[in-house]
Amino acid sequence: MLPRAKMDEFKAHFRGDILLPGDTGYNDARQIWNAMIDRRPALIARCASPEDVVQAVKFAREHNLLISVRGGGHNIAGNAVCDDGLMIDLSLMKRVQVDPNARRATVEPGCILADFDRAAQAHGLATPLGINSTTGVAGLTLGGGFGWLSRKYGMTIDNLLSADVVTADGSQTHASETEHSDLFWGLRGGGGNFGIVTRFEFQLHPVGPGVLSGLIVFPFDQAKSVLTQFARFTETMPDELNVWMITRKAPPLPFLPGDVHGKEIVALAMCYAGNPREGEKLIEPLRGFGTAHGEHIGVQPYTAWQQAFDPLLTRGARNYWKSHNFSHLSDGAIDTIIEYADTLPSPQCEIFVGTIGGQTARVAPEAMAYSSRDANYVMNVHGRWESAIQDEGCIAWAREFFAKSRPFASSGAYVNFLTQDETDRTAFAYGATYNRLVELKKKYDPTNFFRMNQNIKPV
Ligand SMILES: Cc1cc2nc3c(=O)[nH]c(=O)nc-3n(C[C@H](O)[C@H](O)[C@H](O)COP(=O)(O)OP(=O)(O)OC[C@H]3O[C@@H](n4cnc5c(N)ncnc54)[C@H](O)[C@@H]3O)c2cc1C
Repeated sequence: MLPRAKMDEFKAHFRGDILLPGDTGYNDARQIWNAMIDRRPALIARCASPEDVVQAVKFAREHNLLISVRGGGHNIAGNAVCDDGLMIDLSLMKRVQVDPNARRATVEPGCILADFDRAAQAHGLATPLGINSTTGVAGLTLGGGFGWLSRKYGMTIDNLLSADVVTADGSQTHASETEHSDLFWGLRGGGGNFGIVTRFEFQLHPVGPGVLSGLIVFPFDQAKSVLTQFARFTETMPDELNVWMITRKAPPLPFLPGDVHGKEIVALAMCYAGNPREGEKLIEPLRGFGTAHGEHIGVQPYTAWQQAFDPLLTRGARNYWKSHNFSHLSDGAIDTIIEYADTLPSPQCEIFVGTIGGQTARVAPEAMAYSSRDANYVMNVHGRWESAIQDEGCIAWAREFFAKSRPFASSGAYVNFLTQDETDRTAFAYGATYNRLVELKKKYDPTNFFRMNQNIKPV
């Protein structure tokens, strides 16, 4: 119970909305992408400005409230929302400003990838982001960020130029290579541990607007051959090309024969970030990896390709993830992927192998908080289903596969793919940079005020 007079004072200085349990909009605001997470904050502060964020931080400190920070609300661990505390919701702060001459953009922390891509593509520009357009720019960036353009232009953090941050004492700070450079180092992969970012500044690059992209879908009984060739091909492909592997039960895609729908398949998804005519020649060998059920490849707007997977990744399903990094895809890894793809416990479960490497691997591991520069592949074991009755079976499948594939993995893990029960993997995830992150946490957040995250403890 918060003192009424204090609540009134907080509201009086707040430009956005304050929502309490029972208020219209409270239930919508507390819901996030992963329906496994069902928490009830004592209040939700929907900030409209950096000053609102400062007010919320000061209010939480004064009343000793646990806080959570919500950007796009996509994080699998559900740290965007807390029980009984103050949820600082940034989703109203959605402005993107593009300077096409300088090829730079400033982005507010409530933007989803679609907001940023749309504004940048109006000028034929983009920066590497993820593959699902409803993901938040803020959480994705603070954990590292990778997608179709990463082999050519690096991780999202490699393109971060500066950030405005509200730190744990409620002060506003600008961080870049030249100002508070230690904080800037920590923001590039260290998640929400050091403060609340109220504005990101990114480098942009010429992309599209049309990109050669799409899918080739192979029968599951050809999986061994397709995956073996995928592993070899992706080790030597040029940076402009990116190819990911997804194995799952086939959704009812119109280019697939009806009798394939619902059956296990292996799909190669690709994007060429260059002249489509060059890309056509480069992707031709992929067609020879097997006898495909079908393909859907062509030049389409980059923004359309960025949304291509959205229908399979809608909000409201139950999700449980496990993830490994791989430097190489060994035979053992391939065999284990095939074994578990053959026992998918629900029609929506999938295993995907996202290829990075290229430019992402040309940065020194200790140059930023994110250190997994040897991760050429990030595998996500994506458990996804509709009903709580399926929880046990789907979670057990993901955990078992994760354990069986561990011997083939390289070091580190992608913090943005860690679930709520993986708090013991944080130090392993950061590896070489963890000790420095602890020192930084002691400096910027000694009381661990920001702890609803993949937490770096200040001890
Ligand atoms: C369907 C799906 C597809 C994905 N695909 C990719 C992909 O292709 N590439 C990739 O790199 N990742 C991908 N991800 C992972 C994604 O990067 C993370 O889930 C990320 O945390 C989402 O950011 P968000 O702002 O939506 O999340 P939120 O849940 O809102 O935030 C996550 C955490 O980030 C912190 N945070 C958020 N905003 C701020 C802020 N402004 N200041 C300080 N801390 C903040 C908080 O600790 C918060 O708990 C995907 C996730 C999903 C669900």
